[in-house]
Amino acid sequence: MTDQSRYAPLFESVRIGPVTAPNRFYQVPHCTGMGHALPQTLVAMRAMKAEGGWGVVCTEYCSIHPSSDDHPYPFASLWDDGDLGNLAAMADAVHAHGALAGIELWHGGSYVANLATRLPSLGVRSAPGRTDPIQSQRMDRRDIRALRQWHRDAALRARKAGFDIIYVYPSHGYLLSEFLSRSCNDRTDEYGGSLENRMRLLRELLEDTRGAVGDRCAVAVRFAANGHGAEHLCEQEAQEVVAALAHLPDLWDVVISDYDEEMGSSRFVREGALEDRVAYVRKLTGKPVVCVGRFTSPDSMLGQLKRGVLDLIGAARPSIADPFLPTKVREGRLEDIRECIGCNICYAHNFRGSALRCTQNPTIGEEWRSGWHPERVPAGSGGTVLIVGAGPAGLEAAHVLGKRGYQVVLADAAKEAGGRVTREGRLPGLAEWLRVRDYRLGQIGRMANVSLYLDSRMAASDVRAFGANHVLIATGANWRRDGVGRWHSQPIAALDPAAVYTPDDILDGRLPEGDVVLFDDDHYYLGPVIAIQLARAGAYVRYVTTEGRAGAWSLYTQEQERTQRTLIDHGVEIEVNVALSAFDESLATLACVFSGRSRVVPASAVVLVTARTPDEALYRALVGEAEEPGALTAGPPGLESVQRIGDCLQPALIASAVYSGHRAARELGQTGQSPRRERVLISKEAPFSC
Ligand code: ADP
Ligand code: SF4
Repeated sequence: MTDQSRYAPLFESVRIGPVTAPNRFYQVPHCTGMGHALPQTLVAMRAMKAEGGWGVVCTEYCSIHPSSDDHPYPFASLWDDGDLGNLAAMADAVHAHGALAGIELWHGGSYVANLATRLPSLGVRSAPGRTDPIQSQRMDRRDIRALRQWHRDAALRARKAGFDIIYVYPSHGYLLSEFLSRSCNDRTDEYGGSLENRMRLLRELLEDTRGAVGDRCAVAVRFAANGHGAEHLCEQEAQEVVAALAHLPDLWDVVISDYDEEMGSSRFVREGALEDRVAYVRKLTGKPVVCVGRFTSPDSMLGQLKRGVLDLIGAARPSIADPFLPTKVREGRLEDIRECIGCNICYAHNFRGSALRCTQNPTIGEEWRSGWHPERVPAGSGGTVLIVGAGPAGLEAAHVLGKRGYQVVLADAAKEAGGRVTREGRLPGLAEWLRVRDYRLGQIGRMANVSLYLDSRMAASDVRAFGANHVLIATGANWRRDGVGRWHSQPIAALDPAAVYTPDDILDGRLPEGDVVLFDDDHYYLGPVIAIQLARAGAYVRYVTTEGRAGAWSLYTQEQERTQRTLIDHGVEIEVNVALSAFDESLATLACVFSGRSRVVPASAVVLVTARTPDEALYRALVGEAEEPGALTAGPPGLESVQRIGDCLQPALIASAVYSGHRAARELGQTGQSPRRERVLISKEAPFSC
């Protein structure tokens, strides 16, 4: 199938002011955890998307001035000409593949704390920021004039750096949305009061940007089409803003006010979920409109065009999961698309202040660091590889080794492939995660050199008898039954084993009934998801965690609040800052993590979601207790290496297992090279001096 076929409309060019996007695949601005800190990593990652066919590739939020400093999160910056080189490198790299480069100029307003620059943050009024006990400085007219100048200067620099689309960014709670807001904007000057006054600064920045760079660059606005929450800018007012400014920007990039939903995980938000709230924008403006929706299906994309909702298909996550998605659609290789699973691990790592990674695409962020290409792998040196365990690590390894030309045999004791993904994918809300398995099964299913054997438990003698050149052990990990985890470094002494359950029991279909205490010392999705499963099955569930919130780590995946709400909606009792300290089959003892004070609650069963033990028995049987990786005790002739991958090596995220399998497979037979590092070096030309 080619772009002449069914999906040809997706490959039509789109005029955006003075520039033309070569197709409708538009990578909207998205944060990366790279920004100004990892410029080479960033350039290579963005370039890969352009190579993969995205018609427009944008930066992340790009600060226009040191008073907008989101440290420790690595944003992009255009504070002075010293920033030009890094951003020009990105624009050039994107252009080299025929795509347009967009840049999202940004001022964080009261939201940021300026931890690095130590300047006062600036706000429409003096207000507390997101996290730190710091309030912003109320902007006076002089500050507003200065802001307009900074924005204009940044726009000129962006044009000089070669960008084609330059954003004005009045959403996501940053400075310009403060001005738009009814509740935050308490000014009595010409920038406050009526909607006309509150949108004045936005209008001015759009006009300034057009005046500065509009001859050559398109001006885009990123706007929350349903307001910024009823108390900020109501829906009616949002529509009035769109109507009033309809023709001022060259492009409307529409978002919604609820970031948890706009950026919603697949547990809570389906593909294309924003349509109802953004569809009106295109009716009010003759300018092209782009919006995200975690679109991975070209039919959904086509639907957006046909229904007149969008002109350009916005994507952040789908472009991370598969930088080559547009090329695959164009070539009719839909089965090769690595569909985003909506887990938000990408976003979580930016939120952790580290570079982006992805459950589905282990190569993202490794383009420069490790020289990895998402579609190409180096040819192998030949030979056979036996992989034991067809979970995400084993499947990914089989896929990559198959591509490298090895003869691969993948064996799993279970009747179904997929390991933990298959098992967890049956839990409430996690069905989309099965894409991790299905993509890889689809790929290896078409490789004549890869065979999958299910229902095939392998003992060390079987592995030796098999006679492979290389063995990868991907046998996973098992949940602990003794309470050891973050809180308890030793097994809980008083723990009646008869009614103790672990996630493995639940995944095997053994569900406790009655009064169930679920002890979550893991803090991510699994504890809450199992609590919901048990509540749905009729148990009275008391969810107990050593953290201050349910599923506390899912704050980073933008799921925490919805997680807690869902538990409440299911009638789950939530107890925070407590640890399970004993259980005797009718009573559970809970201890406050601060005071140690304890109390007992009725419990007919406990579920322990604490920590996992790597299942390395097979690995140890093959290599003994030697700690040298791949050291063999009694290897048969021809066996060159044995190594562990995935949860068997290190119980961690599914993304980590996929990455581990990928790295091991890509590097098999290669002489090991450490990933490259980006670091600031003191140069001989400008030696250090104080
Ligand atoms: P990972 O996340 O590291 O891929 P999983 O726990 O998802 O790990 O998958 C491990 C897989 O290994 C499971 O499907 C399990 O059935 C399989 N497995 C464990 N031990 C053996 C064994 N001895 N022989 C074959 N398969 C095994
Ligand atoms: Fe999608 Fe998850 Fe990858 Fe993010 S990490 S792009 S949500 S699959």
